[in-house]
Amino acid sequence: MAAEKITVSRATFDQVILPVYAPAQFVPVKGKGSRVWDQQGKEYIDFSGGIAVTALGHCHPALVEALKCQGETLWHTSNIFTNEPALRLASKLIAATFAERVFFVNSGTEANEAAFKLARYYVGKKHSPYKTKIIAFHNAFHGRSLFAVSVGGQPKYSDGFGPKPADIVHVPFNDLAAVQAVIDDHTCAVVLEPIQGEGGIMPASQAFIEGVRALCDKHNALLVFDEVQSGMGRSGKLFAYQHYGVVPDILTTAKALGGGFPVSAMLTTHDIASVMAPGVHGTTYGGNPLACAVAEAAMDIINTDEVLNGVMQRRAQFESALKAIHSRLDVFSDIRGMGLLLGAVLKPEYADKARDILNAAAAEGVMILNAGTGVLRLAPSLIIEPADIDEGMQRLSRALEKVIRA
Ligand SMILES: *Cc1c(COP(=O)(O)O)cnc(C)c1O
Repeated sequence: MAAEKITVSRATFDQVILPVYAPAQFVPVKGKGSRVWDQQGKEYIDFSGGIAVTALGHCHPALVEALKCQGETLWHTSNIFTNEPALRLASKLIAATFAERVFFVNSGTEANEAAFKLARYYVGKKHSPYKTKIIAFHNAFHGRSLFAVSVGGQPKYSDGFGPKPADIVHVPFNDLAAVQAVIDDHTCAVVLEPIQGEGGIMPASQAFIEGVRALCDKHNALLVFDEVQSGMGRSGKLFAYQHYGVVPDILTTAKALGGGFPVSAMLTTHDIASVMAPGVHGTTYGGNPLACAVAEAAMDIINTDEVLNGVMQRRAQFESALKAIHSRLDVFSDIRGMGLLLGAVLKPEYADKARDILNAAAAEGVMILNAGTGVLRLAPSLIIEPADIDEGMQRLSRALEKVIRA
């Protein structure tokens, strides 16, 4: 007997899903490149990229091929048995970065959880079990496990869930003196996003990143870069740290790593990894062959001069379109970010209008994001067609005009 086919719509969301999201009023059903279609057949240009995840657009033929091919070969082994796609992907990540060891998991949160646990474990063994302080930053976002959300710098996300992991302090981002004031020989690690994403698309300054590295070295603390959002080509280099020439001890990557298939990784050095032993940490799905096969295909495309240089060209196109909107409507106070992680900061009088603008943009047929309050965020496909950028920016311009003239 065939399974019963039930009809669902946006209204179903409010009946069946835990109310932790407030999704847009349309339901996407199909995507190709940077175009998406909803249940009614309406077409959208996607500048949201699934929050910096679909770095090669929707249903890229090479990713579809990798998924189909691996899907007909081997889906899952568990970590009782290793697998070829995971070993190949790890080797490629190592070849392209500072890293010498890789740990695969399934989400940004889990990669950060592994990073923070590893930092505590390593420093505890290597130096002292009392060297546990983690320094993190206001407005930082590191995911939603209780450890990750506690290291994150927005108490509204971590309050209400009972006692938090101890010995985590938060100071203002890009404020080296503030780090200097709290770092000491009991500090285990400093954790930062080279470009704060959820916190409002705020890149770290060169002096800040260099200064934090020097302070970590002075106090034998580890430097952890959360590149879950800024990594995998988003900044115009494979990882944002490569713009700064400052190397972390541990780096996490997720979002775009699988181009839309859930997979994430924690990268570190041989020395730090060497404190780990079988059983100390683990996961059932992490390094799953299906996920790693898709991620390998994504990385093969992203980590090329063609794609990375294309990010810079496309950023220029977005920036000039945003500036043209601004000169017509006088809405932005700043355009910031790196590569194709763009933040358009709304002027104070429009700072509470981000959600209205998102809705108006959807009505005009363009999907965008916000980041914190008062910042419009664009995180499109790294290979979005220039014609789609033009068309989408025209739609965004019409949406902005409607909201500010309303
Ligand atoms: C999205 C994000 C996370 C959390 O990733 P999940 O896959 O949602 O767990 C962590 N850190 C940063 C910087 C992110 O942008």
